[in-house]
Amino acid sequence: MKTRTRFAPSPTGYMHIGNLRTALYEYLIAKANGGDFILRIEDTDQKRYVEGATDIIFKTLKRVGMNWDEGPDIGGNFGPYVQSERKAIYAEYAHKLVDLGGAHYCFCAHKEDDSTDDENEAEAHIKFKDPCKNISVEEARKRIANGEPFVVRQNINKTGTSVFHDVVYGDIEIDYDELDEGVLLKSDGLPTYNFANVVDDHLMQISHVVRGNEYISSTPKYNLIYETFGWTPPTYVHVAQVMKDAHHKLSKRNGDASFQDLVAKGYLPEAVLNYIALLGWNPGTEQEIFSLQELEKCFECEKLNKSPAIFDITKLKWMNGCYIRNLSADEFHKLALPFYEALQGKNYNLEALSSVLQPRIEVLNDIADQTEFLAQLPDYDIALFENKKMKTNPEVAKQALELALPVLQNVTEWTNENLFATLKDLAVNNELKNGQILYPVRIALSGLETTPGGATELAVILGKDETIKRVKQALNKL
Ligand code: GLU
Repeated sequence: MKTRTRFAPSPTGYMHIGNLRTALYEYLIAKANGGDFILRIEDTDQKRYVEGATDIIFKTLKRVGMNWDEGPDIGGNFGPYVQSERKAIYAEYAHKLVDLGGAHYCFCAHKEDDSTDDENEAEAHIKFKDPCKNISVEEARKRIANGEPFVVRQNINKTGTSVFHDVVYGDIEIDYDELDEGVLLKSDGLPTYNFANVVDDHLMQISHVVRGNEYISSTPKYNLIYETFGWTPPTYVHVAQVMKDAHHKLSKRNGDASFQDLVAKGYLPEAVLNYIALLGWNPGTEQEIFSLQELEKCFECEKLNKSPAIFDITKLKWMNGCYIRNLSADEFHKLALPFYEALQGKNYNLEALSSVLQPRIEVLNDIADQTEFLAQLPDYDIALFENKKMKTNPEVAKQALELALPVLQNVTEWTNENLFATLKDLAVNNELKNGQILYPVRIALSGLETTPGGATELAVILGKDETIKRVKQALNKL
């Protein structure tokens, strides 16, 4: 059987990190085995419909290079790939399942979705002891023909223990009495997840189902449906949750970053992808930096971890820094440009700024903090000119800047090499240490003790006019 995996997101309007990781593992299982990766949109919960959400899913997957072989936009042999367009299919199979004894019609007034959040006692009762189970199929179909609203509920007719195998968790045993007889088809004719996932995974010939381990407890219910239809269940790969800390799941609703949020903050999509690949999967070697193509070659789902993975932003930052340093100067500059907004209208050398920043930052968002002093010179205290190691103090600084000002005014070739050589000569000619010139110039240009780049690099970024202006301002202070 050909390996076929599917990513089946619900269009929520953002890409949760855990979902993107599931997509990645699905993609990798398919690609590592020469199989197909299918995109299916699970939009049967119309209450949660968000305009433009499907587009975000398309864009995110494309942005990280996870191209799908079949999906809503490109079609395929098993479409449609949007669940709301498959309504007739689910209805057909729901009625068939009733005929086969795997489900029954229910006419009770009830809550229809499977959320357990505000479940009341009556609902719990129906789920475990539905009076409608006693209505014959003929009688129920008459009521339906008369226009009475109905739902289709699963029958759990087995007792004892259900056993199934999972690639990550091994053999899992669950008692049938723990399973509720939940709704499979709602009164609006749309299926619940519990039914749609089985029908679609079967009809789309999905070989491996990868999903969060919160679905483990419902899997025996899905297996009963497979069994009643005489279908073979897929290979199950349940993955541990992505956690914010030991006790809390990572959740967009609680303010944790989605993929889009991370990209907006200046994380590179490739770095995020690399990081989440390792969040729950162990390559078994020391290698940490993987391109998607490399992952496609070495991914094995047997190496997925059982234990929950904690999303470690410090590690992601470090990894993002590695990716930033691996960019060409040109690529980095293009990515950095939108983060130079505060410098708009200034005549600064932004290429020079990019080359100073690239080795120093981990996330593009750091640029704002690192360049604030360029947008506006901070109102610094002259005590900043005091530096024992550099053998400078406000007095030495005054002398140094007085010497440097005319020299700088005369420089025509405003490059780092030339400026550095010029200021070094100035120091030598005046029997000063290099630092006694360079340190005061750097303070004058930045108003900061630590800066990205040295004195002459800052001068190149600021340009001649602004450099001269800032040196003069320092002299006024001194
Ligand atoms: N629509 C489900 C979700 O977003 C898919 C779960 C699955 O992959 O089966 O959680």
